Amino acid sequence: MNRKVVLVTGASRGIGRATALKAAAQGWAVVVNYLHNHAAADEVVAQVRSAGSAAIAVQGDVAVEADVLHMFAQADALGSLAGAVINAGIVAPPLMLVDMPLERLQRMFNVNVLGAYLCAREAARRMMKSGGGEGGSLVLVSSMAAVLGSPGEYVDYAGSKGAVDTLVTGLAKEMGPEGVRVNAVRPGLIDTEIHASGGQPGRAWKRGVNSPLGRPGTAEEVAEAILWLLSDAASYTTGTHLEVSGGLR
Ligand code: NAP
Repeated sequence: MNRKVVLVTGASRGIGRATALKAAAQGWAVVVNYLHNHAAADEVVAQVRSAGSAAIAVQGDVAVEADVLHMFAQADALGSLAGAVINAGIVAPPLMLVDMPLERLQRMFNVNVLGAYLCAREAARRMMKSGGGEGGSLVLVSSMAAVLGSPGEYVDYAGSKGAVDTLVTGLAKEMGPEGVRVNAVRPGLIDTEIHASGGQPGRAWKRGVNSPLGRPGTAEEVAEAILWLLSDAASYTTGTHLEVSGGLR
């Protein structure tokens, strides 16, 4: 099969979902990874198919290597992997570092850091020209938290996204000669369910009004930046961290 495939982790909801739908509209076949929410992932797959593109849903925890290998094997069956959006990520309820239990720290770093590294490794292995690939584009979803540090809220999350930023810097240099571009987006306050999952359902609006643009962003606005980085329009852009934050810094 000779179609252009993009794998999007955490594509059942939020930024990943918006990315999957915009990618389909631009002709990509889409692998929709999710963790628990079968119904939401199936709905994304149905929408991609109704837009005329191919899609499959693949359940898997990005923090588990066997799951990551399985999801990339499923992508191989769909066609040639030309794009990967490494988006799945978690937050946790606000706490000072001094109060954070080990289990929370381990899960945060396993999902947001180990998960990103495993997915980036599998994507790069498939795309690198010296390995028989045809090149491609990786987009990692970082956060403005990597710059701001998120004190009093979640310095663990902020540090995990700092690791993602550094991965992008190094992997872009490794993969440039291999025809693979590697970039990050750093969303600011985006109106998705992630804030409720961290026990702060109103957070995006409460804080987003203080950004220079005076509101939180939408998942679709972040997806626009991701799709640009995936596309050939960004053919000379690699190793960058594109802020999509309404000017928040
Ligand atoms: P969201 O609405 O909470 O959606 C999270 C998605 O990730 C869901 O599809 C979820 O699957 C999936 N997921 C969670 N843990 C996973 C795991 N271990 N393995 C595989 N999939 C997993 O989140 P979002 O706001 O769209 O955030 C997406 C990314 O943007 C994250 O990396 C986040 O850190 C980053 N970001 C978000 C904001 C913001 O304000 N929203 C700001 C900066 C950065 P299920 O549906 O199955 O649970």
